[in-house]
Amino acid sequence: MTKNRDADSGNTGMRAMLARHGFRFKKQLGQNFLVDENVVKKIIAAADVGSCDGVFEIGPGAGAMTTKLADIARRVVAVEKDRGLMPILDERLADRNNVELIFADVLDLDLSKVWPAFVDCESVHVIANLPYYITTPILFFLLEAGVPIETMILMVQKEVADRLAAPPGGKDYGALTVSVQYRCDVEKVAHVSPGSFVPSPGVESTVVRLRVRRDPKVRVVDDGQFHRIVKAAFALRRKTILNALCAGLGMRKEEVAELLSQAEIVATRRGETLSLQEFADLANLFPGNP
Ligand code: SAM
Repeated sequence: MTKNRDADSGNTGMRAMLARHGFRFKKQLGQNFLVDENVVKKIIAAADVGSCDGVFEIGPGAGAMTTKLADIARRVVAVEKDRGLMPILDERLADRNNVELIFADVLDLDLSKVWPAFVDCESVHVIANLPYYITTPILFFLLEAGVPIETMILMVQKEVADRLAAPPGGKDYGALTVSVQYRCDVEKVAHVSPGSFVPSPGVESTVVRLRVRRDPKVRVVDDGQFHRIVKAAFALRRKTILNALCAGLGMRKEEVAELLSQAEIVATRRGETLSLQEFADLANLFPGNP
């Protein structure tokens, strides 16, 4: 196996700094810190952060990415749940006057009150090596926060990246895929092996780039209706779309069959074969829509 010298030297430096501060990793907070400079560079390059841009970083940890981001961005706001990291981050970021640290659970923040910090920034990028235990809630929290986000560069568990980027028809294509691809263009940027972190996680990771679209990719009359139908279609994914929707939405077979026929979707197909466009066409025909 090839030795990863960048990760080895970063690992030694990181461990020494954490030991000096008496820091102990908290597994329950998904604390696997990046020690591979090459991966940090790839994440930052993928974000394409300009000198007039802002960065919202979730979970800066010991600041592996934060210092580099502060070098290139106009402003960095980083939110970290673990107050135990405060002395380390304070030390590493002492000479930066464009970084604001918030010690809180990101899910408790009202982002409309945080975004004014980026008032003089051209666009805002979210960058996060996410705690894997709450990847999906954080993703939806960001998409539903109603604040302008240009791109999100997220380190996620490999299997989650596969689901986010999946095309229709396969086992990875599900409600998460459709809901995220409705709002974002998703690309995988890099594969990251466990040896790039300290401590090494038991899973492979992937960096994904989500370009948040100003307008969703397909026209949907009622977002709530669209998400309900997507959820119902995948809740019983081994069933036909007809049966899954009847069960999930509590509707009569004839009624759902008629709507599927109007949307030109064969009732015996499975939900996992429907494209984003087909989900939108179907949702727009459901009762409640004008
Ligand atoms: N960004 C650092 C790096 O790449 O080395 C640390 C990444 S580590 C996978 C995840 C970080 O998110 C940890 O520092 C953890 O304490 C923090 N974290 C976990 N849950 C959080 C939450 N709900 N809100 C904010 N930060 C959180």
